[in-house]
Amino acid sequence: MRPIASRRHFSAVWMVVINPSGGQGKAVRMFQERVGPILAEADIAFEVVVSEKLGHITGLARKLDLDKYSAIVIISGDGLIHEVINGLMTRPDWNRAIQTPLGLIPGGSGNALAASVHEACGETFTHDFPKHAALLLTKSIPVPLDLIYLETPSEERYAFLSIGWGIIADIDIESEKFRVLGETRFTVGGLQRLVGLRLYNGTLSYLPADASTPATTALYDDSLSTQSLPKPATDLLVPLSSPVPTSWTVVDGDFVSVYLASTSRLGVSNVGIPWAKLDDGLVYLFWVRGGAPKSAVASFLLNLGSGDHLKSQYVEMAAVRAFRLEPREKDGILTVDGERIQYGPIQGQVLPSLGRVMSR
Ligand code: ADP
Ligand code: MG
Repeated sequence: MRPIASRRHFSAVWMVVINPSGGQGKAVRMFQERVGPILAEADIAFEVVVSEKLGHITGLARKLDLDKYSAIVIISGDGLIHEVINGLMTRPDWNRAIQTPLGLIPGGSGNALAASVHEACGETFTHDFPKHAALLLTKSIPVPLDLIYLETPSEERYAFLSIGWGIIADIDIESEKFRVLGETRFTVGGLQRLVGLRLYNGTLSYLPADASTPATTALYDDSLSTQSLPKPATDLLVPLSSPVPTSWTVVDGDFVSVYLASTSRLGVSNVGIPWAKLDDGLVYLFWVRGGAPKSAVASFLLNLGSGDHLKSQYVEMAAVRAFRLEPREKDGILTVDGERIQYGPIQGQVLPSLGRVMSR
């Protein structure tokens, strides 16, 4: 498809990226009919790139001319946001690049960050959330967003949303075949997973927020001359091959669910951590141990819709600055921002306020 562009061009241009296959596959049309006209009406100059395949937009973000583009607007689910952030963070000038404000229009089946930003703006979800989000975008300002540095034995990554292991991660990935259902795919997948409830064995370790001083908050400060650093400092972590520091809490055993979330919502219909702020410098770990009755697991999943999922006696939780998950089985599903990654040990730490989103 030929890139479309707005009529007027200013020195500050917004780069609009669209995932044509996100959600129900309607993002391109939705942009042309409902979002593009709002940006054009607001006299915003923009260029559009439609993602051709997985990884395309990571490459685009890695090469984007930061003198030309003043914002990146992402029309997709959380997957394309993950691509943009990882593209920006793997540039030699990541320190400047990651300050590019990201504008979010929901266009996938999991639109957690778009929903969390919308909520942070004090807005409710209307039947035309994308249009409403576009209107807000034209009046927005950049605000800080926490990111999460992650490492596994084979790779490093940056996340903004979640790390999942157990039932929620399984539902997320196994329900991808029901993508045409939109958000309902998570309900269908949830029922399927409840019937054949699984246990996940391993260790989770974390540095509780109240037992630690906040990690550096000024990583992006130009005056620190961090430009020469190949990546942000991750001072709370020891190598994955070493035992976690003694100040960390360790929980071992069987789990039904282990989930880390950084945002207030996991989607339009699912609450994450109701009180989480975009820049609170924290990620919230909540888990359900093996042994929880099936009925409790069912209400845990159902209550994600109201935010009451954290109130169950079977749900334990901690606000953390760093963590490690070590599954014991060889195979399984691990997700980062809703995307599947290789199964195995993973650890990470919050990078407070490193990113920027357009909000108000
Ligand atoms: P959803 O919320 O429906 O899962 P996402 O926007 O999260 O939608 O995208 C799902 C996946 O599609 C992500 O892994 C994303 O990186 C990937 N992707 C990006 N561009 C394309 C493309 N052109 N074709 C197929 N998949 C793509
Ligand atoms: Mg947070």
